[in-house]
Amino acid sequence: MPLICPKCRSGRVEARDVGKKTGSALGVIAGAAGAATGGAALGAIAGGPAGAVLGHLAGTLMRALVGGATGCAVGAALGEVVDENILANHHCLNCGHRFRLKRAE
Ligand SMILES: [Zn+2]
Repeated sequence: MPLICPKCRSGRVEARDVGKKTGSALGVIAGAAGAATGGAALGAIAGGPAGAVLGHLAGTLMRALVGGATGCAVGAALGEVVDENILANHHCLNCGHRFRLKRAE
């Protein structure tokens, strides 16, 4: 779908994706932090003190990776919604006009 600036009708339009980029960055941090905390708790429940240490190390690493990736995807999806609905996501390279895409209803 070609994008056209509503002001000058130029086709030189780019998506800014501010919310998407911010969302995925925040999602990685939130996902990794939340998942790492959960990994330590699970290790403690499963194997007592020794298990807690091993569980913490292995669980933290694995869960941080998985949680970070999941958080990134979730954050990017949320950011995309913010971009399209709240922020003026599109930027005309010709006249500098910022605008939102009108959704077909
Ligand atoms: Zn324009």
